[in-house]
Amino acid sequence: MTKGKMLYEGKAKCVYDCAENPDYAIVSYKDDATAFNGLKKGTIQDKGIVNNRVTNHLMKMLEENGIPTHFVEEINDRETVVKKVSIVPLEVIVRNIASGSLSKRLGLPEGTKLSSTVLEYCYKDDALGDPMVNEYHIAAINAASKDELHCISVYAFRINDILSAYLKKSNIELIDFKLEFGKLPDGKIVLADEISPDTCRFWDSVTHEKLDKDRFRQDLGNVEGAYQEILKRLMGDK
Ligand code: UDP
Repeated sequence: MTKGKMLYEGKAKCVYDCAENPDYAIVSYKDDATAFNGLKKGTIQDKGIVNNRVTNHLMKMLEENGIPTHFVEEINDRETVVKKVSIVPLEVIVRNIASGSLSKRLGLPEGTKLSSTVLEYCYKDDALGDPMVNEYHIAAINAASKDELHCISVYAFRINDILSAYLKKSNIELIDFKLEFGKLPDGKIVLADEISPDTCRFWDSVTHEKLDKDRFRQDLGNVEGAYQEILKRLMGDK
């Protein structure tokens, strides 16, 4: 399948029409990296390749475990055909271990195990800095209906269980992650966007070494190496 006109250019991806099928779109992953709501900018060599391949690998695995996703087919190292959806304007964040903004907000040292899984929503709006919202805000601004949000929360917890267990086999601890969901023309909710070292915190299970975008955010060095390590652990030579 081939790219048609560009529909959208984001910080890490571009989205194109699919020339052959109006129900599909083609996502193209870039090496550009941003953090702190776009204040820090840089490039992570071959990040686009890692994120495309890791996302597709994990989306396929989730589909096999009963989670509907937008994934259709990978067309090359950086580009994937997906179902066209209207994105629910929420970042759905799932947390197992305290880190990042949660550590700051609640004064919990990074690495503190949470007694139960935390689910958070942020309203996707760059100009507002993606503010955290609760289910009442979401209903009040019509970001999602009550039924849609219920479905999203059930999927989010299920994805956490499936993904945590899957990653554990590769000695990766899933600290927290961000999901986005989309709506198909028939109203069905599917997992969309990406699942990658850009959108998840991955720590080595034994050494607790960070293998994700925190290496870029915090200038920890060996950013490219960490992304490649995740690709290698999940896909080996595939
Ligand atoms: N996250 C993301 N995009 C965002 C904000 C957060 O993918 O715009 C991911 C982030 O990588 C982490 C999780 O969501 O895995 C929780 O992030 P947090 O709220 O701690 O914010 P951060 O510390 O990344 O600013």
